[in-house]
Parts: sequence; C-alpha cells; structure tokens
Amino acid sequence: MEQRYTLPEGSPSAKEGVHSRVSSGYRPETICIQGGWTPGKGEPRVLPIYQSTTFKYDTSEQMARLFDLEDEGYFYTRLQNPTNDAVAQKICALEGGAAAMLTSSGQAATFYSIFNIASAGDHVISSATIYGGSSNLFTVTLKKLGIDFTLVDPEISPEELEKEFKPNTRAVFGETISNPSLVVLDIEKFAKAAHDHGVPLILDNTFATPINCRPFEFGADIVTHSTTKYMDGHAMSVGGCIVDSGNFDWMAHKEKFPGLTTPDESYHGLVYAEAFGKKAYITKATAQLMRDLGAIQSPQNAFLLNVGLETLHLRVPCHCENARKVAEYLEACEDVAWVNYPGLKSSPYYERAKKYMPGGTCGVIAFGLKGGRERSIKFMDSLKLAAIVTHVADARTSVLHPASHTHRQLSDEQLIEAGVKPDLIRFSVGIENAVDIIADIEQALDAVR
Ligand SMILES: *Cc1c(COP(=O)(O)O)cnc(C)c1O
Repeated sequence: MEQRYTLPEGSPSAKEGVHSRVSSGYRPETICIQGGWTPGKGEPRVLPIYQSTTFKYDTSEQMARLFDLEDEGYFYTRLQNPTNDAVAQKICALEGGAAAMLTSSGQAATFYSIFNIASAGDHVISSATIYGGSSNLFTVTLKKLGIDFTLVDPEISPEELEKEFKPNTRAVFGETISNPSLVVLDIEKFAKAAHDHGVPLILDNTFATPINCRPFEFGADIVTHSTTKYMDGHAMSVGGCIVDSGNFDWMAHKEKFPGLTTPDESYHGLVYAEAFGKKAYITKATAQLMRDLGAIQSPQNAFLLNVGLETLHLRVPCHCENARKVAEYLEACEDVAWVNYPGLKSSPYYERAKKYMPGGTCGVIAFGLKGGRERSIKFMDSLKLAAIVTHVADARTSVLHPASHTHRQLSDEQLIEAGVKPDLIRFSVGIENAVDIIADIEQALDAVR
C-alpha cells in the first residue's frame, strides 16, 4: 500500500523523486476507494483538503533543500499540494503508472504533456480524430509557439505513418476513444511507430478511463485525462491529470530530449532523467511547467474529484450498459440515418474495442438523423430529460451538436478530417434508468416527425 503524505523530517532522498507514493497491487475497485490516501494514527480517515498555499519548515536549510529538489516535501501549492498529490496517486495507480500530477484542466494536461518534451522547432504527430480543444491547441496555439503538428487519419497504414516522421519529431499523440467521433485508436500501431522512431506515445484516455482501458499495457508511454468527465463524474469541477508509465527511456534518445537528459540550469545543473529515473518526466513537468505556468488544480476541486473517483468503477459500467441499450434502440429506429457506438456489433471499431477495452467502451454515442443537420437540431431542442450542455460524460444524460458547438471553429473540411459529420449528435448517456432515457428520445423523435 502507498505511504501516506509525510512531513519533510526524514523524507526520502531526491532519488525517490517528489512523487513516490503510488499504491500498487490492488484491484481497480479497491484503488478507486482506498488509493492515494492512507492515514496514520489519529489522522482523518477521509482525504482532507489542504487548503493552504504554503507549508512550514523549522530551518532555512530545510526549505533550501526543497528548492533544490534534494528533499521531498511541500512548500507552495502552485508546485504541489498534498490533497492534489493523493488524488494524482490514485489515478496513477488506476493507470498502472510510475508518477502522476493533477492540472487545472484537461487542456492544461494536454498542453503540458507535449510542452514538457517539445519546444520551438520540434514536430509532433497526432491522430486527427481528437477533441476539438486539443486540435485547436495543437494547430493554432502550439503552432504559434513554434511546434509543428501533423494530423494523420487514425486508420493510416503503418507504411504511410512511417513517412510522417521527421528528424525533429518528438512525440505521437492520440485519444483511446475520440471525442466526439468515437474512433477507437489502434494503440499498438501508434506505439510501434513512435518507438521505432525513439519517441513516446501520449494518449488521452478521458473517454475510456482506466476502468475500461489501461493504455500502458498496449505500449503507450504517457496518459492524459480531462478529469472533468467520467472521473469527476458529476459535472462539478474542471480538472486534468498526466500519468507517466515510467517506461520510456529518455537517456536512450538523449539528443531528442535535452530537457530531460542535459543539465537544467534553473536547478543547479540537475539532469532529470538521471536524478529521478521513472519519475523524471513528471518531476520536470512539476518543477518547470507548474513553477512557470502554474496551471494547478485547486485542492478543493481535487477533493471533489476524489469523491467522484470513489465510484468510478460503479458508474463506468452503468454508463456503458445504458449506452448499449440506447445505441441498440437508435440502430433499430427508422428516423436514424447512422449510429456510431464502438460497443455495437455493427461498429467498425467493435473488434478493436474488444481487444483494447473488453469490459466496455464509454457512455457516449454519436448518431445522425435522416433529414440531416436541421432535423438533428430540432430533435435536440425537443428532448426533455437529456439537457443540451457543452459537458459530456457525467451522471446526467446530455446532448450536443459538435458542428454548432464544440467544433464551431472548424471549417467543413476540418470537421470531416476530425471525423465529425455536420449532422453528428453527441449523446452522452447518463446513469439514469435507460427506459426513461429511451422514452425521452422517442418523444423527441415524435416531435420532429
Ligand atoms: C473535455 C476534454 C478535454 C479537455 O478537458 P477540459 O477539462 O475541458 O479542459 C480533453 N480531451 C478530451 C477527450 C475531452 O473530452
């Protein structure tokens, strides 16, 4: 079992890194409930909110050692906070990783995951079927910072994928199940290509969650999450997480990752990959990116996220079961032009999903109505139980039209490239009774007939 958060006296040496309390050996259900926080005698049974910006020391020397990353401990919540760390360690254990950190949002997690190993002049390959916010981050904002992205069709052949690598490629990125196009990624194809070229595969595992898919088991090196979705599960707090498997050998590709393999002058010449081993990537992201960019999650939000995580193993299967019933209903429906749900036998991703996520996929369904965009919008306006919200993947059934909402900034060609048909309705099935959800769809279809 993981150690609980300990005060700096007698704290481990820098070799063990600043994120060393990861639980292991338990099954996911147990980790959801008990992971990350193990109180000692007389301490709160429930993870407390360390609502403190700062942490106290006895001597100036003790504090100085923290600043030099020579000791483990907390000093300022912009870098680390015990509540946040406990929650990060729970997610780390669920993913089977070596180290993890929380961020203020999923966007911040995606940004840090790339920016931690790529800078101006570098290049990254990404699956084109990713969250709209991620494709905007990559092709607009990171482009302005000088990082060049190539977006590839996720069904690209290994030979064609091979050709997209350049000498300055630093990472490959994708989503295990893409939002909102629900493409199940061929993880092993992308992992092999990345490793053949000496770079890590970073996967956004938001939709599948570690309950359904553990990407490290298929060769992914780093996983990101928007914890805002199923992990929080109640639409209460925006947050993100980055988990590192610790498997990628940065020193074996020294010249590609100077930030990890050469001295950091802002920490007295420390070399992350040498000093922190499997925790090097997360330690660097904390020490440099949190220090300089500061996208920390508030401890209050981390506390709420932890409450959500305690039922993740119960909610995710329920979302999947309800979504399967709704998808089967839609598929049999005259008014429906097409349905994409990777848990449906008719889905082109059914077999692949069985391999990578045999227990289930996610609670989100994409479909289009006969009569196209216009009719789809009218249908959505007629729903009563399912609410039109930007959010996705929480306890309440919700619905969105990406072409008018989340993906509004994309041109028609970009929409197609991102796998988002103009008539696509994203239906996020909640954990209400499936009979009521289907009845709501039925009455809305009646209303647009
Ligand atoms: C929502 C989402 C994000 C962005 O997360 P925020 O918490 O909203 O910043 C990233 N990736 C996926 C797959 C998402 O669904």
